[in-house]
Amino acid sequence: MQTILPPMNAAQKLCPEPKIADCPYRLSQFALSAPCEEGVLLYNTLTGELLLLSEKEYRGAANGDEEGEDLKKRRFLVPEDYDEYTLCRQILSVARLLAPKKKGITGFTVFTTTDCNARCPYCYELGRPRVPMSDRTAADAADFIARVSEGEKVTLSWFGGEPLMNVRAIDIITSELAGRGVPFASRIVSNGYLFDAGLVRTAKEKWALEFAQITLDGTEETYNRIKGIVNCEGSAFSRVLSNIGLLLDAGVRVQIRLNVDLDNVRDLSKLTGYLAERFSGERKPSLYSVLIHDFSSPGASPGVGAEALAAWDELQRKILSTPLGSVRRLPRSIRANGCMADIDSSVTILPDGRIGKCEHESEQLFVGSIYDGITDPETVERWRERVEVPECRTCALSPLCTRLRLCSWTADRCGDEDRERMRLSAEQMIINEYKRSLMNGGDKIEADEDPEKDDFSGFGR
Ligand code: SF4
Ligand code: SF4
Repeated sequence: MQTILPPMNAAQKLCPEPKIADCPYRLSQFALSAPCEEGVLLYNTLTGELLLLSEKEYRGAANGDEEGEDLKKRRFLVPEDYDEYTLCRQILSVARLLAPKKKGITGFTVFTTTDCNARCPYCYELGRPRVPMSDRTAADAADFIARVSEGEKVTLSWFGGEPLMNVRAIDIITSELAGRGVPFASRIVSNGYLFDAGLVRTAKEKWALEFAQITLDGTEETYNRIKGIVNCEGSAFSRVLSNIGLLLDAGVRVQIRLNVDLDNVRDLSKLTGYLAERFSGERKPSLYSVLIHDFSSPGASPGVGAEALAAWDELQRKILSTPLGSVRRLPRSIRANGCMADIDSSVTILPDGRIGKCEHESEQLFVGSIYDGITDPETVERWRERVEVPECRTCALSPLCTRLRLCSWTADRCGDEDRERMRLSAEQMIINEYKRSLMNGGDKIEADEDPEKDDFSGFGR
C-alpha cells in the first residue's frame, strides 16, 4: 500500500481519532475507487487521503488482512453501523464557520454587455435582452468596486454576452481603478474572436489580464457553422486560434473549453489531437471539456443519458492523455463554499448596475445595486442553500458536493445521472492526481477554477 496524498490537515484536526472496535467493518461510503494499471486507487472524499493498493491488497483488506487494520485507522474501513453522514455534516459545518473571511468584496464578475457576436444554439442567454453597460454605469461600477473592496486586491472577471463587444466599459473601469490606486488583476470569458494584437497588448498592460477562457465547439468547419459569428471575416476558427497564440505569447494563461454532446464528441476528439499538435511549444493552453446543459426551460434537467456520459468520459480521458489536458486538482482543504454564488466576497455587476451572485443569472435573483450596495440579504442567504435529496445520506460525494439549490445547472435536484457525472469527474481527478505523483510534480497543467464553475466551479454540477 502506498500513500499518494496524505489526509488533509483540516480533516485530521476535525475528525475524531478512530477507535478500533471488535466489530464487523465495511468500506467507508466516502471511499471512491479508481482502477489503474498498478492496482486500485482508493480516495477518501472526507479526509482527502489517496492510496494505491495492489489488487491483492485491495481484495485482502476487506477480508481482515493486515492492510485492513491500517485502513481502519485511515477511515477507509469503518464499523458497519457507523453514521458517517452525520460526521461529515458536522465537519463541513465547522469548516464553514472556521473559513477565513475577507474584509470586503474582492471578486467582481462584470457583464460589460449581454450582447454577443456569436449565435451558439446552446447558449443560456438566448432570447435575453442585449444591453451594453453605459460609460456612466462603468464609471459608477468602478466607484462601487473601489468602495467595497476596502483596500484589498480585486479580481475582475469580464463576462457577458461577449465582453469584448464593450471594450470601452473595461477601459473605463480599469483606468478608474488604476487612477485610484486600487490593485487589481483580471480574467475573461470570451469567444476570443474580437482580440487582435493591439487589444491583447491593452488587455495585458491596462486590464492586467491574467487568464482567458475560450470555448471551441469543434474543428474548423463545425466551429464556424455552430458559432455563427456575426460580421465574420474569413474563418472564425483560424482567427480565434491565432488569438489564442497572441494571448499565450503575451503571458496570458488560456484555458480552452470544449462543450460536448453526443453529436459532436467525435469531432471534439479530432480537435483535441489537432490542438495538441498545434500547441506543442513551450506556451500551451490548458484544455478541458464539459457536457452541454439544457437551459431551454427553467429547471431543465441535464438529461444527458448514460451514452453521453460515457462518451464525455472517454473524451475527457483522451484530453488528459495529451500535454494540454487539465482537470481540477483534488481538494486539499475542506470546501467551505461551492462557487462565487455562496461566498460573501464575490458579486456580479449587470450592465444596468444591479448586482447579483451568479454569473448565469442576468435577469433575476439580484441582491442590490452598485448605488445602494446589498439590499436583499435574504436572497444572499438563499444562495447558500444546498441541494438535499434522500440519497445524500449514503452518497460518496457528499464531502465534495457543492450543488446549490438556486443554481440553474443543478436545478435543485440530483438524479442518478448527476451523481454518475460527478463520480466520473472525481475518478478523472483521482487518476490525474496519481499521474502527477508519478511525474513527481511534473509538467501537467493545472486547471484553473472554471469561471463558469463551476462547471468545475461547483463540483456539484
Ligand atoms: S451528489 Fe447528489 S446525492 Fe450526493 S451529496 Fe450531492 S446532492 Fe446529495
Ligand atoms: S455553479 Fe451554479 S450557482 Fe455557482 S456560479 Fe455557476 S451557475 Fe451560478
